[in-house]
Amino acid sequence: MTDVIVVGAGLGGSSTAMFLARRGIDVLVVERHASTSPHPRAAGQHQRTMEFLHIGGVADEIRAVGPPPAEFRIKVAESLHGRVLHTVMENFADGLGAVEQLTPAGWGSATQDQAEPIMMEQASNHGATVRFATELVSFEQDADGVTAQLLDVESGRSEEVRAKYLVGADGNRSPIRERLGIARTGFGGLSNHIGIVFDADLTGVLPDGEQWLYYLQNPAFTGAYIGVNKPNRHIFSIEYHPEKGESFTDYPAERIVELMRIGLDSPDLDPEIIWTGPWEMAARIAEKWRDGRVFLVGDAAKVTPPTGALGGNAAVGDGFDLAWKLAAVLTGEAGPGLLDTYEAERKRAAELVVNESMANYVLRMAPHLAGPDIPEAIGPIEVVLGVRHTSSAVIPEPDDGSLTMDPFKFNGEPGFHAPHVVLPSGETTLDVWGAGWALLGGPDGGWDEIDLGILQFRSLGEVHDRFGVGREGASLLRPDGVVAWRTTSKADEATLKNVLRQVLSC
Ligand SMILES: Cc1cc2nc3c(=O)[nH]c(=O)nc-3n(C[C@H](O)[C@H](O)[C@H](O)COP(=O)(O)OP(=O)(O)OC[C@H]3O[C@@H](n4cnc5c(N)ncnc54)[C@H](O)[C@@H]3O)c2cc1C
Repeated sequence: MTDVIVVGAGLGGSSTAMFLARRGIDVLVVERHASTSPHPRAAGQHQRTMEFLHIGGVADEIRAVGPPPAEFRIKVAESLHGRVLHTVMENFADGLGAVEQLTPAGWGSATQDQAEPIMMEQASNHGATVRFATELVSFEQDADGVTAQLLDVESGRSEEVRAKYLVGADGNRSPIRERLGIARTGFGGLSNHIGIVFDADLTGVLPDGEQWLYYLQNPAFTGAYIGVNKPNRHIFSIEYHPEKGESFTDYPAERIVELMRIGLDSPDLDPEIIWTGPWEMAARIAEKWRDGRVFLVGDAAKVTPPTGALGGNAAVGDGFDLAWKLAAVLTGEAGPGLLDTYEAERKRAAELVVNESMANYVLRMAPHLAGPDIPEAIGPIEVVLGVRHTSSAVIPEPDDGSLTMDPFKFNGEPGFHAPHVVLPSGETTLDVWGAGWALLGGPDGGWDEIDLGILQFRSLGEVHDRFGVGREGASLLRPDGVVAWRTTSKADEATLKNVLRQVLSC
């Protein structure tokens, strides 16, 4: 019996498979298409994703294909050179320095068509079996596992495979979620767009070496221009209106090019259209992220407007979270109760992502929707790094109930990302938690003298104050860098073992 079947080779599936395989779990990935997606749409890996990719062993490769651009602007304008209605970001690179205080992971600019194969190859290198042109057609679960019916799309041959768990990384329309009858809530469908990937030499239109993301609110149409990191490759989108009787077919190539010329202030533009297709912008969150032995990750679990570039990143975050928890249960390190913390923690993170994306969507693309029902943006750094984790895998301290914390104020409170420090060993906190469960102890607590079981120990030395544990206390870090528990008391083996049993649901 396979440990885990992952359905879908998008960002959600390829990351889940990679993180599981890196932890020695037996994984089978099935993807109905013949390859990963050729569409570049999700571009950019924020710092939290880069932490995960560092642990997955592919951060350098991602950085190599997608180094951050020297200049990256985000504006809302009538056209590329027309009236600017709002400047979202004058230069993205300006903000990167400050974030280095929070994590050494950096930023990646790989597009989706670059990131998926890198993660999938890493999964294969660590023993995952990847079958393209293979569709999951049905599944049944029982007390011991899941039986999946797979179809070889080319030969038409069917096959039955057993696994202990099934992961639905099968996208927004998720046949797995549908089959389980899991409903979705949220803001629902927001608008309809024609996505266009095109090649054109925009020298003279865009300054050399700069990458731009322009939301276009033009009298002729609403849309967006997105620069990507491949020379002469670009993305464009045009909103169309089914509620006024329009459909995708009302936009043949000539009309698309006419609107692109207006939006790009390039009357002579002669683009090579690589791909066009309709897509719905929506904000929906699945009510349940788990049904027995079946889990949802990525767009299957939540879909968010791309305004803010958070959806694909959240898919990788789901994959990382589910993988370390499934691996801990499958290897017997944790009890099955740990798996309940996946939905508890990731659904809350998804709500923050959707709210932030909605606030951005209204500002950048749909100002007519502004009103009391639209959440306020709290800023990408807080959404990405500042989430409070609330589940049985954290022993909380009395708190003010806030869902996030400004990451520049991280103080070691359980439920939040550990502060980034360089330890006396010379390692960063990311180096240590990236390798598994860890205990960071104050210099005088004697924590390294007790039986630490699965925990690796590092002394905090004089940086103990950043974790709020004093000279004698200790801080317990999970494999995702979240503080699970802390104490100001000196070493106590029985207490530590109890804490571990509790957070691992043993
Ligand atoms: C225009 C646009 C721009 C975006 N820009 C960004 C951005 O800049 N940054 C960002 O972070 N996010 C962005 N996103 C969001 C991002 O693309 C998605 O969140 C991400 O692709 C979700 O990945 P996924 O793996 O969950 O789903 P998908 O990429 O949809 O993958 C699902 C896979 O499952 C396969 N599948 C489905 N059913 C089956 C089956 N029964 N058997 C086998 N295989 C199956 C499908 O073929 C597909 O390959 C953007 C989205 C859009 C539409």
